[in-house]
This record gives sequence, structure tokens and C-alpha cells, in this order.
Amino acid sequence: MIRLKSGVGPFVIQQYHDALTEQGIGCVLRNQFISGAAGELPVQDLEPELWLLNVDDARQAEAVWQSLQADSQAVAWVCEGCQEYQDAEFNICWNCQQPR
Ligand SMILES: [Zn+2]
Repeated sequence: MIRLKSGVGPFVIQQYHDALTEQGIGCVLRNQFISGAAGELPVQDLEPELWLLNVDDARQAEAVWQSLQADSQAVAWVCEGCQEYQDAEFNICWNCQQPR
């Protein structure tokens, strides 16, 4: 098992997880449901992480990630300031007010 992706927002990583699952690529999300523990753990331990069950799937998983990024540019975007997922109709981040 290898860590595939971290440092992106929870919505993005969930979307990635769902896309991989649809493709039949085994993966698991970690640190997704422990936000209640915030304040007691270092911040880096609270970032959602996506782990790939089979290292042989890494190349295909990366291809899925790339196509996901290409698709999302048309309909949605991710804030550069806080990495939160944004709906396409908004031009300012709902979370930190950074312009698109
Ligand atoms: Zn933001």
C-alpha cells in the first residue's frame, strides 16, 4: 500500500477516491472523519490522505487524477490559497475570499 495523494482538500480527495473506485482501482481514504480531534493532533496528521492498495495501479491512478483535473477545470476549481473545492459559478473562494 502506498500513499497516493495528500495536501488537497477533502472534497477533491473524495472525488478522486470515487473516480478510482469507479475504475476498479482499490484505494482507501484516511484522516477523513477525525476532524473532531482537531487541536489535539498536529495539523499534518489531519490532512485527508488517499492510499493506493496496489502499487501496480499507480500509473493508472495518476492518469485518472490528470483526467479529473482536466474535467474539473470546466465545471469547478480549487482555491490556490486554501485548497478548497469551489463550484464553477463562484469566482471568489467561499472559504478565504481569494479570487479565482
Ligand atoms: Zn480559499
